[in-house]
Amino acid sequence: SDHHLEYPISPAHMDWSSHYPAFVDPDPTHQTLSGTRRLLKDVEVVDIGCGFGGLLVGLAPLLPETLIVGLEIRTSVLDYVRSRIHALRLRQQQLKQGIVAPIEETERPAEAPAPEDEVGTTNALVPGNYENISGIRANTMKFLPNFFARHQLSKIFICFPDPHFKVRKHKARIVSESLNAEYAYAVRPGGKLYSITDVEEYHHWILRHFTVQVGEDVSMGSSKFLWERVEGEELENDPCVKVMSSETEESKKVTRNNGNKYVAVFRRKEDPEWV
Ligand code: SAM
Repeated sequence: SDHHLEYPISPAHMDWSSHYPAFVDPDPTHQTLSGTRRLLKDVEVVDIGCGFGGLLVGLAPLLPETLIVGLEIRTSVLDYVRSRIHALRLRQQQLKQGIVAPIEETERPAEAPAPEDEVGTTNALVPGNYENISGIRANTMKFLPNFFARHQLSKIFICFPDPHFKVRKHKARIVSESLNAEYAYAVRPGGKLYSITDVEEYHHWILRHFTVQVGEDVSMGSSKFLWERVEGEELENDPCVKVMSSETEESKKVTRNNGNKYVAVFRRKEDPEWV
């Protein structure tokens, strides 16, 4: 339960240094409010409910200068993600040194993806060397503002969220009125929130929670006004959409089962003047 979850008392207290050692500020006097070393840049991209980390690994070479973090609530799954990233970084170092040893076996939970499905079990050097991705254990329904300051993020990904089909379970969904307000707080104007699901009803639920419906009476303060849907060419040309649609473990499963994938991307609008 939550008292086993570690979270900073504010984003300025968060110690990211062990997550992104290659991005630690060389000046040791630059410290966080908890007295730990600061990074040269902020974490900007978040994968909510990252599962086994396929999106992180897929995005890493695409955004090599951007710090990306996956948030996952299940301990064994998060442990797997961390050891997977560790193995990938080690692999990159070995490749640079011309050593081609067998890829290090990571401890895998029973339900982990098959090795051939793992993105990045590669013998190629990639931009960024996977130094820009990490994972933390977190319940994103509770502590998101502890980790990320206002307007810190340029992208949030929500890939194949647990559907919680039953109506009385809908409150467990990670898309809701109040969580959307938190996402709008953390994402900067111009930033984007990406979603994909294989459950059509959940797709419509997401659309309803991010856009005002025809004839809907919405209060002035609703965070729905802070988002606009991204469509057409901009969506088709966005490489992140391709990665999200093909590289996560869940998306591979859906592809194998010939399932449908419903994508919705929203841009964070400028804050209205009354904020
Ligand atoms: N995004 C991954 C993918 O596409 O392969 C995993 C999808 S899986 C169906 C949903 C994941 O969200 C699970 O790994 C689950 O443990 C995680 N999750 C559910 N609720 C969460 C929460 N409140 N905070 C963090 N992770 C959560």
